[in-house]
Amino acid sequence: MSNPSEVPSRYRVRRVLTALAALYPDARTALDFETPWQLLVATILSAQCTDARVNIITRRLFQEYPDARSLAALSEEEIAGLIRDCGLFRSKARYLSQTARIVQEVYGGEIPPSITQAEMTRLPGVGRKTANVVLANAFGVDALAVDTHVFRVAHRLGWSAARDADRTEADLTRLIPRREWSRAHHWLILHGRQVCHARRPACERCAIARWCPGRQDAVSSSAAREKRGGRGEGFGPGGGSALSKPH
Ligand code: SF4
Repeated sequence: MSNPSEVPSRYRVRRVLTALAALYPDARTALDFETPWQLLVATILSAQCTDARVNIITRRLFQEYPDARSLAALSEEEIAGLIRDCGLFRSKARYLSQTARIVQEVYGGEIPPSITQAEMTRLPGVGRKTANVVLANAFGVDALAVDTHVFRVAHRLGWSAARDADRTEADLTRLIPRREWSRAHHWLILHGRQVCHARRPACERCAIARWCPGRQDAVSSSAAREKRGGRGEGFGPGGGSALSKPH
């Protein structure tokens, strides 16, 4: 965050986190998984795909191919055929095929609890967001993944002005106490999905509106987009996800 005057007060951040904790007490990942490997697969599939659809796909996929060993035995084309209901399925099939083989050869078929973020991001199709999701949800590591919802809500709250997810993560991990990184990730996602929508944020019923400097901006920019006939999509404060690279 370049301008110190833009840094939100710790008090405001604390109040927002307290309110979000009360709003979403059972926040957790919506992706179904039984092992760290399965969570990694589901998270790779979740780019430009709803969690509900990912769960339908992985329910079928994991029945026959529950681990890296069984997936590594398939060709890229065979994997593509199994996940074709998912957006970007061809590139995801390539990532899953390559990653399954590496995990089988290097780690003996399962993601080890000792794996670091740097090691995870060396796997094809795995960026910081995916690595943080797996580290936080499979191993209980303090990590804050920035997806499109976290990015949008954080910007509207004035918690970051960074233009990319990695620097937004750096801003948020400076502001939010470490022990709350993982839960804050889920709170911001749920708030983005249920209230602070990309196109029409429901500021009038938002429980954290009084601490949100982006309230008017969000409403007016959304209205302006509608007037222009825009869809309001894109990886930015007012848009949804348009990720096409590992994330
Ligand atoms: S007040 Fe509006 S812009 Fe701010 S977090 Fe709530 S819904 Fe989003």
